[in-house]
Amino acid sequence: MTQSLPPLSLLAPDIYRLRLPLPFALDHVNCYLIRGTGGWTLLDTGLHTPEGWQSWLDAFDALGIGPQDVEQIVLTHVHPDHYGMAGALQAWTHNAAPVRMSAATAAAAEMIWRSSAEAWLDETSAYLRRNGLAASFLESVLGSMRGMRAAVRPHPEWVETFAPGAELLLGNRRVQVIAAQGHADDQTVFYDADDRLLFCGDQVLMRITPNVGAWPTTPANPLGRFLTDLNRLRQVDVRLALPGHRAEISDFAGRIDELLAHHQKRLIAIREAIPADGATTLEITRHVFPTDGYTTHEVRFAVAETLAHLEYLIEAGEAARAENGAGVWIFRRVI
Ligand SMILES: [Zn+2]
Repeated sequence: MTQSLPPLSLLAPDIYRLRLPLPFALDHVNCYLIRGTGGWTLLDTGLHTPEGWQSWLDAFDALGIGPQDVEQIVLTHVHPDHYGMAGALQAWTHNAAPVRMSAATAAAAEMIWRSSAEAWLDETSAYLRRNGLAASFLESVLGSMRGMRAAVRPHPEWVETFAPGAELLLGNRRVQVIAAQGHADDQTVFYDADDRLLFCGDQVLMRITPNVGAWPTTPANPLGRFLTDLNRLRQVDVRLALPGHRAEISDFAGRIDELLAHHQKRLIAIREAIPADGATTLEITRHVFPTDGYTTHEVRFAVAETLAHLEYLIEAGEAARAENGAGVWIFRRVI
C-alpha cells in the first residue's frame, strides 16, 4: 500500500500532481496539471470511476479552473488508468480542449478501446492456447476487458497527434517528445531540457517495476524494446522525473540501473526455469512466480511478463520455440 499523500500537491510553481484512486492493487495514478499563459495542460487522466471524476472536480475547484481554462489534455500512453477520463475531461471543456497523444497511441486506442471485439477475440483465444492457458481463462479476459472498456468512456470527440522528436508546449514549458516502448507498445515521455525535468509516464517507476508483457497484439520482443529505450533514457540529463505512479524520482539514472539489473536477474531465472525437455509459457511462469495464490487476472500478467522474457531470450539466441501438435508453444534452452 502506498503512503497516504494529499490528492493535490504542488511540485513546482507551475505543476500540481493530482493522485487519482484506482480500484487495483496499485491503488492510484498520478496526473499532472501544468499552468501556462495559454491555460492549463492536463497530463494523463485516470480511470473513469465516480471517485476519480470527483477528484478532478475537487482539483478544479481548489485551483479555480473552469472549463474554458483548460488548454489541452495530453496522454503518455493508452492504458486505461491514463487514457480513461480523456473523453470525459474534453466533454467538460465543451469539446474546446484537444486531446493530444502520439499517432501510435491514437491507433492503439482505436484498436483496444473502440474497435469491435471480434478480431480481438480470435487473437486472444489463439494467444491463450499458444501459451498453455486453458480456454476458461477467456472468461477472465472478457470480464476484465468489459470492465476496462466501460471505464474509458466516453471517448474523446477529437484527437490531435504528435510524433517522436516533435516539440510541444506543456503550460509554458517547451518539451521534447520522446518515444519509450515496452511497457506499452507506444509511450511518450516529455523532456523539458531547460529545467532538466522529465514527465516519464510508466517507463520508470519507484519501488515497482513497470509491467513489461507480451500480449495478444504486442509486436515481438517488448522487453528488448523496453531495455533499449531505458538505456537511451539513461543518457538524458534528468534532475527530476515525474512518473505515472508513486513518488517523483530524483536519481533517475540510478533507478534505471536498478530496473536494468532486475530484468537481467529475471532473464537468468527464466532461462534456468526452462526444463531440459522443454515447457510451455505457463509451466515456466509457475516456476518463476508464486502463482498458487494468484487470481486468473494475476496469472495472465505473470504469463505475459514471462513470455516477454522468453521472447528476449529467443532473440538473444538463448532459447528456442517450437509449436507442438496442439498449437501450444514449447520453449527449449539453447546451450
Ligand atoms: Zn499506469
